[in-house]
Amino acid sequence: MKIEPIPHNQFATPSLHAQGLYIGGEWLPGQGIDVINPATGEVLAQVADAGLEDAVKAVNAADSAALQWRKTSARERAEILRRWFHLMNEHAEELAHLIALENGKALPDARGEVAYAAEFFRWYAEEAARIPGEFRHTPSGSHHILVDHEPIGIALLITPWNFPAAMATRKIGPALAAGCCVILKPASETPLTAYAMARLGAQAGVPDGVVNVLTTSDPAGVTNAILADPRVRKLSFTGSTAVGRILLAEAAKSVVSCSMELGGNAPFLVFDDADLDAALDGAMVAKMRNAGEACTAANRFYVQDGIHDEFVAALTQRMAALTVGPGTEPQTQVGPMITAAAVAKIDRLVTDAATRGARVHTGGRPLPGPGYFYPPTVMDNIPATAPIAYEEIFGPVAAVYRFNTEDEAISMANDTEYGLAAYVYSGDMARALRVGKRLESGMIGINRGLMSDPAAPFGGVKQSGLGREGGVTGILEFMEAKYFAVDF
Ligand code: NAD
Repeated sequence: MKIEPIPHNQFATPSLHAQGLYIGGEWLPGQGIDVINPATGEVLAQVADAGLEDAVKAVNAADSAALQWRKTSARERAEILRRWFHLMNEHAEELAHLIALENGKALPDARGEVAYAAEFFRWYAEEAARIPGEFRHTPSGSHHILVDHEPIGIALLITPWNFPAAMATRKIGPALAAGCCVILKPASETPLTAYAMARLGAQAGVPDGVVNVLTTSDPAGVTNAILADPRVRKLSFTGSTAVGRILLAEAAKSVVSCSMELGGNAPFLVFDDADLDAALDGAMVAKMRNAGEACTAANRFYVQDGIHDEFVAALTQRMAALTVGPGTEPQTQVGPMITAAAVAKIDRLVTDAATRGARVHTGGRPLPGPGYFYPPTVMDNIPATAPIAYEEIFGPVAAVYRFNTEDEAISMANDTEYGLAAYVYSGDMARALRVGKRLESGMIGINRGLMSDPAAPFGGVKQSGLGREGGVTGILEFMEAKYFAVDF
């Protein structure tokens, strides 16, 4: 079925992206899942609710397209991705509006996400044409080794609500570049962006069945059914560590290759010799991008004794000055949290820390509704035993801790099961790199509060995940090495 383009002035209308499941290039009508505007608590639209039979349809559709897609030249796949990149940019403002509506994030954050998301298509359009192979002589001289990289097969992509566009393109880009067909299951809180992007993909020339999108209120049932199908060879998941563990166990049953981008608990270290203004700028970005709802969000600020009090005072001033409101309002800097449950979790962590002796310098109580708002909050004097020190806050709360020595800072920073992102601010680059080397984390920001970049390998160690997305290695997560032993 041909997908008609939607005029620009209508593209951000939620109901237009609630046409049904997108399978095999067609919209299969359906309803059942309310998409809520977190700024008001009102229903924006209803999207389709896939069942087990839709799971089979999606695998069938991907399977029908698979042979042709893997035979399509790398250049042609690249051109399609590049057109999709351009279409996302042409619709950037409408996509940002849609994200701000369903996710709640402030428009500047939403615009930033769309630009970042589209870049994965451009980057992987470029990488598609550079898929590596290998030729070697065996050390014994007995034969030659030839290594080819083949598309791994049908990939199931599961994404969270906090970056509805970027978490999808970070997977779809390399998968399509590698020659794989995909089934995307976006989070039910933010499905409209995924369906809108699928529409743009069809316009860009993605063949029917290469990208399928389904929403469901039964993620476990539907994704287990997909994973149990022997034609599905890849699971790429971004979400919480708890769900990642469940999916790894499920994927083990059919020995499906897994990439896991899971939770974080990022430490943000500021040494006495840091440029304080630069550290504050970085702290605001690392903490407040998406109102704190980011896996890379600074969760624990460790500030050296000599500048601790000055840092807390200045951070408090900046946080208290932020404007909270609906993400779609132009003056808003901090949008609502995704759900009432998210606000309740933040409230629990902050209240618990306060009862254990923490000082609250600004914020500290949920804001009245409608909508799910929590104010920018700064706390210090927090005991290390408080849950806020080891759980993901996922909200606009800066928890600040004091340290004295480098060793103390490193040991506090590493005292977590997570290892996704960490930040170091110091005027001494040798120290910053030395500390960075000892931090147990997949990504280290040195005098920088933002590290995400499509050209860099994104991912974590410990309970934060397996594998890397982006960069030059991201495409290999969707490929299988085939070795030829060759005599000639
Ligand atoms: P979540 O784990 O609750 O859900 C993620 C996705 O998994 C959603 O699509 C959800 O519907 C689906 N899901 C839930 N239960 C499932 C099951 N049993 N089987 C199959 N699918 C299931 O996470 P969330 O609340 O949407 O997102 C927030 C989490 O994501 C945070 O922990 C955050 O750190 C993490 N995250 C990590 C990265 C990263 O790159 N490492 C990026 C963004 C978010």
